[in-house]
Amino acid sequence: MIKPGIIWGKHYKQLIDKAKRHQYALPAINITTMDMLNNVLEAASIYKSDIIIQLSYERAQFIAGYGLNKTPLECATIGALMVATHAHLLAKHYGICVVLHTDHANRRLIPWIEQLVNLSDYWYKQHKTPLFSSHMIDLSEEPIDQNIDTCKFWLKRFNSLGIGLEMELGITGGEEDGIGHELNSIKNTDLLYTNPADVLKAYNELNHLGNLSIAASFGNIHGVYKVGNVRLKPTILQDSQRLICQQKNISLSNIVNFVFHGGSGSSRQNIMEAIEYGVFKFNISTDIQFAYSQGIYQETITNNNCSYLHFTRKKILKKMKEVFHLLGSKNQTITSHCS
Ligand SMILES: [Zn+2]
Repeated sequence: MIKPGIIWGKHYKQLIDKAKRHQYALPAINITTMDMLNNVLEAASIYKSDIIIQLSYERAQFIAGYGLNKTPLECATIGALMVATHAHLLAKHYGICVVLHTDHANRRLIPWIEQLVNLSDYWYKQHKTPLFSSHMIDLSEEPIDQNIDTCKFWLKRFNSLGIGLEMELGITGGEEDGIGHELNSIKNTDLLYTNPADVLKAYNELNHLGNLSIAASFGNIHGVYKVGNVRLKPTILQDSQRLICQQKNISLSNIVNFVFHGGSGSSRQNIMEAIEYGVFKFNISTDIQFAYSQGIYQETITNNNCSYLHFTRKKILKKMKEVFHLLGSKNQTITSHCS
Protein backbone atom coordinates (compact mmCIF):
# COMPACT_ATOMS: atom_id res chain seq x y z
CA MET A 1 0.00 0.00 0.00
CA ILE A 2 1.34 3.41 -0.93
CA LYS A 3 0.63 6.32 1.37
CA PRO A 4 -1.58 9.06 -0.06
CA GLY A 5 0.02 12.37 -0.98
CA ILE A 6 2.69 13.54 -3.41
CA ILE A 7 4.56 10.59 -4.86
CA TRP A 8 7.89 10.45 -6.69
CA GLY A 9 10.70 7.99 -7.48
CA LYS A 10 9.77 4.31 -7.33
CA HIS A 11 6.14 4.99 -6.40
CA TYR A 12 5.69 7.20 -9.45
CA LYS A 13 7.17 4.40 -11.56
CA GLN A 14 4.74 1.94 -9.98
CA LEU A 15 1.87 4.24 -10.83
CA ILE A 16 2.98 4.48 -14.47
CA ASP A 17 3.39 0.70 -14.68
CA LYS A 18 -0.05 0.07 -13.23
CA ALA A 19 -1.70 2.57 -15.60
CA LYS A 20 -0.07 0.95 -18.62
CA ARG A 21 -0.84 -2.58 -17.42
CA HIS A 22 -4.49 -1.79 -16.69
CA GLN A 23 -4.83 0.42 -19.78
CA TYR A 24 -5.88 3.70 -18.26
CA ALA A 25 -4.36 7.18 -18.22
CA LEU A 26 -3.97 9.78 -15.51
CA PRO A 27 -5.37 13.23 -16.16
CA ALA A 28 -2.69 15.94 -15.95
CA ILE A 29 -4.35 19.21 -15.03
CA ASN A 30 -2.74 22.63 -15.42
CA ILE A 31 -3.41 24.63 -12.30
CA THR A 32 -4.08 28.34 -12.64
CA THR A 33 -5.36 29.16 -9.16
CA MET A 34 -5.09 27.57 -5.73
CA ASP A 35 -8.85 26.93 -5.46
CA MET A 36 -8.69 25.07 -8.77
CA LEU A 37 -5.96 22.88 -7.30
CA ASN A 38 -8.19 22.09 -4.30
CA ASN A 39 -11.19 21.33 -6.54
CA VAL A 40 -9.17 18.95 -8.70
CA LEU A 41 -7.81 17.13 -5.62
CA GLU A 42 -11.33 16.86 -4.25
CA ALA A 43 -12.57 15.38 -7.54
CA ALA A 44 -9.70 12.86 -7.57
CA SER A 45 -10.56 11.90 -4.02
CA ILE A 46 -14.28 11.42 -4.76
CA TYR A 47 -13.60 9.23 -7.80
CA LYS A 48 -10.58 7.47 -6.24
CA SER A 49 -8.28 8.32 -9.12
CA ASP A 50 -4.64 9.30 -8.78
CA ILE A 51 -3.86 12.53 -10.55
CA ILE A 52 -1.11 14.67 -12.04
CA ILE A 53 -1.07 18.35 -11.12
CA GLN A 54 1.06 20.50 -13.39
CA LEU A 55 2.18 24.06 -13.52
CA SER A 56 3.53 26.21 -16.35
CA TYR A 57 6.17 28.91 -15.95
CA GLU A 58 3.74 31.67 -16.83
CA ARG A 59 1.11 30.45 -14.37
CA ALA A 60 3.73 30.11 -11.63
CA GLN A 61 4.62 33.76 -12.25
CA PHE A 62 0.95 34.74 -12.11
CA ILE A 63 0.37 32.85 -8.85
CA ALA A 64 3.28 34.69 -7.19
CA GLY A 65 1.88 37.98 -8.57
CA TYR A 66 3.11 40.09 -11.48
CA GLY A 67 3.49 43.06 -9.16
CA LEU A 68 6.43 41.61 -7.24
CA ASN A 69 9.55 43.68 -7.55
CA LYS A 70 11.51 40.69 -8.81
CA THR A 71 12.60 39.17 -12.11
CA PRO A 72 10.13 36.89 -13.96
CA LEU A 73 12.39 33.93 -13.11
CA GLU A 74 12.29 34.77 -9.40
CA CYS A 75 8.49 35.22 -9.51
CA ALA A 76 8.00 31.89 -11.30
CA THR A 77 10.23 30.16 -8.75
CA ILE A 78 8.30 31.64 -5.83
CA GLY A 79 4.97 30.72 -7.51
CA ALA A 80 6.10 27.13 -8.08
CA LEU A 81 7.26 26.88 -4.48
CA MET A 82 3.86 28.17 -3.31
CA VAL A 83 1.95 25.58 -5.35
CA ALA A 84 4.28 22.76 -4.32
CA THR A 85 4.14 23.51 -0.59
CA HIS A 86 0.35 23.91 -0.78
CA ALA A 87 0.05 20.57 -2.60
CA HIS A 88 2.45 18.78 -0.23
CA LEU A 89 0.47 19.98 2.79
CA LEU A 90 -2.91 19.11 1.35
CA ALA A 91 -2.61 16.12 -1.00
CA LYS A 92 -2.10 13.50 1.70
CA HIS A 93 -5.46 14.35 3.28
CA TYR A 94 -7.34 13.52 0.08
CA GLY A 95 -6.48 9.82 0.17
CA ILE A 96 -5.05 9.55 -3.36
CA CYS A 97 -1.60 9.75 -4.97
CA VAL A 98 -0.62 13.00 -6.62
CA VAL A 99 2.19 13.57 -9.09
CA LEU A 100 3.45 17.15 -9.07
CA HIS A 101 4.91 18.23 -12.38
CA THR A 102 6.08 21.32 -14.26
CA ASP A 103 4.88 21.71 -17.86
CA HIS A 104 6.79 22.82 -21.01
CA ALA A 105 10.18 24.39 -20.28
CA ASN A 106 12.11 25.25 -23.41
CA ARG A 107 15.81 26.27 -23.47
CA ARG A 108 14.98 29.77 -22.19
CA LEU A 109 13.20 28.33 -19.15
CA ILE A 110 15.85 25.80 -18.10
CA PRO A 111 17.13 28.26 -15.42
CA TRP A 112 13.67 27.95 -13.82
CA ILE A 113 13.98 24.16 -13.72
CA GLU A 114 17.49 24.54 -12.30
CA GLN A 115 16.13 26.73 -9.49
CA LEU A 116 13.39 24.21 -8.72
CA VAL A 117 15.82 21.29 -8.64
CA ASN A 118 18.07 23.24 -6.28
CA LEU A 119 15.03 23.83 -4.07
CA SER A 120 14.23 20.10 -4.27
CA ASP A 121 17.74 19.38 -3.02
CA TYR A 122 17.10 21.57 -0.01
CA TRP A 123 13.55 20.25 0.48
CA TYR A 124 14.82 16.65 0.31
CA LYS A 125 17.17 17.26 3.22
CA GLN A 126 14.28 18.54 5.33
CA HIS A 127 11.39 16.30 4.26
CA LYS A 128 12.93 13.28 2.48
CA THR A 129 11.03 14.12 -0.69
CA PRO A 130 11.77 16.29 -3.71
CA LEU A 131 9.55 19.32 -4.27
CA PHE A 132 8.27 18.10 -7.66
CA SER A 133 7.79 14.52 -8.88
CA SER A 134 8.86 15.37 -12.42
CA HIS A 135 9.73 18.20 -14.79
CA MET A 136 9.24 18.60 -18.51
CA ILE A 137 12.08 19.84 -20.68
CA ASP A 138 10.77 20.67 -24.14
CA LEU A 139 13.57 21.10 -26.66
CA SER A 140 11.47 19.80 -29.53
CA GLU A 141 12.39 22.85 -31.63
CA GLU A 142 16.09 21.96 -31.49
CA PRO A 143 18.01 19.26 -33.38
CA ILE A 144 17.35 15.88 -31.81
CA ASP A 145 20.97 15.26 -30.73
CA GLN A 146 21.01 18.54 -28.85
CA ASN A 147 17.62 17.74 -27.31
CA ILE A 148 18.83 14.32 -26.14
CA ASP A 149 22.18 15.64 -24.83
CA THR A 150 20.54 18.28 -22.65
CA CYS A 151 17.91 15.81 -21.41
CA LYS A 152 20.71 13.38 -20.55
CA PHE A 153 22.32 15.95 -18.27
CA TRP A 154 19.06 16.82 -16.54
CA LEU A 155 17.71 13.29 -16.22
CA LYS A 156 20.86 12.28 -14.33
CA ARG A 157 20.49 15.30 -12.05
CA PHE A 158 16.75 14.67 -11.54
CA ASN A 159 17.24 10.98 -10.90
CA SER A 160 19.58 11.63 -7.99
CA LEU A 161 16.51 13.07 -6.23
CA GLY A 162 13.93 10.59 -7.58
CA ILE A 163 12.49 13.18 -10.00
CA GLY A 164 11.28 12.04 -13.44
CA LEU A 165 11.83 13.76 -16.81
CA GLU A 166 9.29 14.30 -19.57
CA MET A 167 10.79 15.23 -22.94
CA GLU A 168 9.13 16.19 -26.21
CA LEU A 169 9.86 14.80 -29.66
CA GLY A 170 8.13 16.41 -32.63
CA ILE A 171 6.04 19.51 -32.10
CA THR A 172 2.69 19.91 -30.38
CA GLY A 173 0.74 22.47 -32.40
CA GLY A 174 -0.88 25.52 -30.87
CA GLU A 175 0.36 27.62 -28.02
CA GLU A 176 0.21 27.08 -24.27
CA ASP A 177 1.12 29.81 -21.82
CA GLY A 178 3.54 31.50 -24.20
CA ILE A 179 5.21 28.33 -25.45
CA GLY A 180 4.52 26.78 -28.84
CA HIS A 181 3.40 27.77 -32.29
CA GLU A 182 0.24 28.92 -33.90
CA LEU A 183 -0.70 26.16 -36.27
CA ASN A 184 -0.53 28.32 -39.40
CA SER A 185 3.03 29.33 -38.48
CA ILE A 186 4.22 25.73 -38.72
CA LYS A 187 5.42 25.47 -42.30
CA ASN A 188 6.24 21.80 -42.24
CA THR A 189 3.29 19.89 -40.76
CA ASP A 190 5.42 16.71 -40.82
CA LEU A 191 6.89 18.11 -37.59
CA LEU A 192 3.53 17.47 -35.94
CA TYR A 193 4.19 13.76 -36.36
CA THR A 194 7.17 12.29 -34.51
CA ASN A 195 9.38 9.87 -36.38
CA PRO A 196 9.46 6.51 -34.49
CA ALA A 197 13.23 6.36 -35.22
CA ASP A 198 13.63 9.46 -33.03
CA VAL A 199 11.71 7.77 -30.19
CA LEU A 200 14.03 4.77 -30.50
CA LYS A 201 17.11 7.00 -30.35
CA ALA A 202 15.85 8.94 -27.31
CA TYR A 203 14.77 5.76 -25.53
CA ASN A 204 18.12 4.05 -26.08
CA GLU A 205 20.13 7.02 -24.89
CA LEU A 206 18.00 8.13 -21.96
CA ASN A 207 15.71 5.48 -20.53
CA HIS A 208 18.36 3.71 -18.45
CA LEU A 209 19.27 7.00 -16.73
CA GLY A 210 16.02 7.46 -14.79
CA ASN A 211 12.26 7.81 -15.02
CA LEU A 212 11.71 8.94 -18.61
CA SER A 213 8.44 9.78 -20.31
CA ILE A 214 8.08 11.00 -23.87
CA ALA A 215 5.58 13.44 -25.33
CA ALA A 216 5.64 12.23 -28.93
CA SER A 217 3.52 14.21 -31.34
CA PHE A 218 0.93 12.47 -33.41
CA GLY A 219 -0.87 15.58 -34.67
CA ASN A 220 -1.75 16.96 -31.20
CA ILE A 221 -2.73 20.58 -30.73
CA HIS A 222 -2.92 22.67 -27.57
CA GLY A 223 -6.20 24.46 -27.06
CA VAL A 224 -9.40 23.56 -28.87
CA TYR A 225 -9.29 21.47 -32.03
CA LYS A 226 -10.64 23.04 -35.17
CA VAL A 227 -12.51 20.38 -37.08
CA GLY A 228 -10.62 19.04 -40.08
CA ASN A 229 -7.45 20.96 -39.28
CA VAL A 230 -5.10 18.14 -38.37
CA ARG A 231 -5.51 14.40 -38.23
CA LEU A 232 -4.41 12.52 -35.12
CA LYS A 233 -2.38 9.41 -35.86
CA PRO A 234 -1.93 7.51 -32.55
CA THR A 235 -0.48 4.57 -34.53
CA ILE A 236 2.80 6.53 -34.45
CA LEU A 237 3.00 5.51 -30.78
CA GLN A 238 2.44 1.86 -31.59
CA ASP A 239 5.01 2.01 -34.41
CA SER A 240 7.52 3.43 -31.92
CA GLN A 241 6.84 0.69 -29.34
CA ARG A 242 7.18 -1.92 -32.06
CA LEU A 243 10.47 -0.52 -33.37
CA ILE A 244 12.04 -0.52 -29.90
CA CYS A 245 10.80 -4.01 -29.03
CA GLN A 246 12.06 -5.35 -32.38
CA GLN A 247 15.46 -3.84 -31.80
CA LYS A 248 15.60 -5.35 -28.31
CA ASN A 249 14.35 -8.63 -29.70
CA ILE A 250 11.46 -8.83 -27.22
CA SER A 251 7.75 -9.33 -27.85
CA LEU A 252 5.67 -6.22 -28.45
CA SER A 253 4.83 -4.32 -25.25
CA ASN A 254 4.34 -0.74 -24.17
CA ILE A 255 7.95 -0.25 -23.20
CA VAL A 256 7.86 3.57 -23.60
CA ASN A 257 5.90 5.83 -21.22
CA PHE A 258 4.00 8.14 -23.55
CA VAL A 259 2.33 11.46 -22.76
CA PHE A 260 -0.64 12.86 -24.71
CA HIS A 261 -0.45 16.68 -25.00
CA GLY A 262 -3.37 18.85 -26.03
CA GLY A 263 -5.95 16.30 -24.88
CA SER A 264 -8.91 18.71 -24.71
CA GLY A 265 -11.49 18.04 -27.39
CA SER A 266 -9.94 14.77 -28.64
CA SER A 267 -12.23 11.99 -29.78
CA ARG A 268 -12.86 9.05 -27.47
CA GLN A 269 -11.56 6.69 -30.14
CA ASN A 270 -8.23 8.53 -30.47
CA ILE A 271 -7.84 8.62 -26.70
CA MET A 272 -8.55 4.89 -26.32
CA GLU A 273 -6.10 4.09 -29.08
CA ALA A 274 -3.38 6.27 -27.55
CA ILE A 275 -3.84 4.57 -24.16
CA GLU A 276 -3.66 1.18 -25.83
CA TYR A 277 -0.29 2.19 -27.30
CA GLY A 278 1.28 3.27 -24.01
CA VAL A 279 -0.06 6.73 -23.05
CA PHE A 280 -0.25 6.96 -19.25
CA LYS A 281 -0.46 10.77 -18.89
CA PHE A 282 -3.18 12.76 -20.57
CA ASN A 283 -2.80 16.54 -20.51
CA ILE A 284 -6.16 18.22 -20.34
CA SER A 285 -6.06 21.90 -19.58
CA THR A 286 -8.41 23.82 -21.88
CA ASP A 287 -11.54 21.82 -20.94
CA ILE A 288 -10.92 22.40 -17.23
CA GLN A 289 -10.26 26.13 -17.74
CA PHE A 290 -13.55 26.34 -19.63
CA ALA A 291 -15.43 24.55 -16.84
CA TYR A 292 -13.96 27.02 -14.35
CA SER A 293 -14.81 30.08 -16.48
CA GLN A 294 -18.35 28.83 -17.08
CA GLY A 295 -18.88 28.66 -13.32
CA ILE A 296 -17.82 32.32 -13.03
CA TYR A 297 -19.86 33.44 -16.03
CA GLN A 298 -23.08 31.73 -14.99
CA GLU A 299 -22.99 33.06 -11.48
CA THR A 300 -21.82 36.59 -12.12
CA ILE A 301 -23.44 37.44 -15.47
CA THR A 302 -26.46 35.14 -15.61
CA ASN A 303 -27.38 34.93 -11.92
CA ASN A 304 -25.89 38.25 -10.80
CA ASN A 305 -24.18 36.49 -7.89
CA CYS A 306 -20.67 37.58 -6.99
CA SER A 307 -20.05 34.55 -4.79
CA TYR A 308 -19.02 32.22 -7.60
CA LEU A 309 -16.35 29.93 -6.13
CA HIS A 310 -18.88 27.27 -5.10
CA PHE A 311 -20.01 27.16 -8.71
CA THR A 312 -16.56 26.92 -10.24
CA ARG A 313 -16.00 24.03 -7.83
CA LYS A 314 -19.19 22.28 -8.96
CA LYS A 315 -18.30 22.76 -12.63
CA ILE A 316 -14.82 21.32 -12.10
CA LEU A 317 -16.12 18.32 -10.11
CA LYS A 318 -18.58 17.61 -12.90
CA LYS A 319 -15.98 17.93 -15.66
CA MET A 320 -13.43 15.84 -13.76
CA LYS A 321 -16.01 13.07 -13.31
CA GLU A 322 -16.24 12.83 -17.12
CA VAL A 323 -12.46 12.93 -17.46
CA PHE A 324 -11.80 10.10 -14.96
CA HIS A 325 -14.48 8.05 -16.63
CA LEU A 326 -13.10 8.70 -20.11
CA LEU A 327 -9.52 7.85 -19.15
CA GLY A 328 -10.49 4.81 -17.06
CA SER A 329 -8.62 6.03 -13.97
CA LYS A 330 -11.69 6.00 -11.70
CA ASN A 331 -11.30 3.66 -8.67
CA GLN A 332 -7.75 2.80 -9.74
CA THR A 333 -5.79 4.68 -7.07
CA ILE A 334 -2.66 2.80 -6.05
CA THR A 335 -3.29 3.82 -2.44
CA SER A 336 -6.07 1.24 -2.12
CA HIS A 337 -5.14 -1.33 -4.78
CA CYS A 338 -1.99 -3.37 -4.46
CA SER A 339 -2.14 -5.08 -7.85
ZN1 LIG B 1 1.69 20.58 -23.91
